Amino acid sequence: MFLDEDHEANEAAELTKQTLVDTQQRMGMMLDLMPMGFLIHTRQGIIFGNQEAARLLQVPQEEVVGKHFLDFLTTHAGEAAKQIEEAFHGRISVEPTEAEVRTATGQARTIKLIAGALPWEGNPVVQLLLQDITDLKAIQDRLHLLAVTDELTGAFNRRHAFTTGHRLFNTQEAASNNVALAVLDVDHFKRVNDTYGHSAGDAALKMLAQTVQEIISAHASRDMTFARVGGEEFMVLFPAMAPKAVFETCEQIRSEIERGPVLSAAGTFQITVSIGVALRRETDASFDGLYSSADKALYEAKASGRNRVCLDESGPLPHKGLTRF
Ligand code: GH3
Ligand code: MG
Ligand code: MG
Repeated sequence: MFLDEDHEANEAAELTKQTLVDTQQRMGMMLDLMPMGFLIHTRQGIIFGNQEAARLLQVPQEEVVGKHFLDFLTTHAGEAAKQIEEAFHGRISVEPTEAEVRTATGQARTIKLIAGALPWEGNPVVQLLLQDITDLKAIQDRLHLLAVTDELTGAFNRRHAFTTGHRLFNTQEAASNNVALAVLDVDHFKRVNDTYGHSAGDAALKMLAQTVQEIISAHASRDMTFARVGGEEFMVLFPAMAPKAVFETCEQIRSEIERGPVLSAAGTFQITVSIGVALRRETDASFDGLYSSADKALYEAKASGRNRVCLDESGPLPHKGLTRF
């Protein structure tokens, strides 16, 4: 009698155990097919990783176990650690962490991390969901670049330049730093188009942009914003540069552009630019004000013979030893 009962109980236990094993296997298979990386992590290390997690971390799936997730991170490790710690305490961060993982092949991938608590045989365990956003990020970066760049010259576009200018005026730094703006316009550009053709004109604009880019990127502080603000009109915003250095840079831009030359199918030629410079006044409240001052100086440069750098007369006096143009 007892034996029969024992036998039945054993069979029931065996069935339960088998069901559990099956369920675990089924769960494992389901998790393996997930397009998201999934890790189960104790405080010591990873105890389960699905196929996608292994692909993301570039380690064979069987080798994921035992490793520590934070060791894979090259950026935002502190943030991720905090989020995981929160999860150990049963809290889920509203903001997922975006971090870069270093893979065994040296490739960097950007992942979005979501961490949550997971009941696991009475031990504190967290589940980590890893979304590979590398491609998405690349597209985002590309779209951003397209949105802020002028297609012909590669300089920033007008919208980006003005956004940057307005933003600068809204910061504290602008009030304490030397802010200057230079506006450049190609001299007699219509003649260039009329003489050599529109595509030669385009080549001239490209040469101009490349020359300015080279000059400003050679500066120790590379925080200047160079943009094409109109057809043959450009600007350089100097967010923190002494007036003397601003003038020297503008003069260098002017002379290097004059040196050219522009090579085109229709012939080789030179162009010149006129440059108007304005220095931010204590009372200047907006970027628009600075821009119109620089524009006035540009008009002066044009009126007084072109191919020169002129300073806005109404602005602050430049550094000692500097003459107004
Ligand atoms: P100024 O010295 O007074 O500035 O004379 P300018 O001839 O440069 O000035 P104007 O404003 O009369 O002419 C500008 C010319 O720039 C007219 C326009 O066809 C040309 N232009 C504007 N955008 C482009 C462009 O993208 N490519 C080419 N090739 N020409 C352009
Ligand atoms: Mg012009
Ligand atoms: Mg013009």
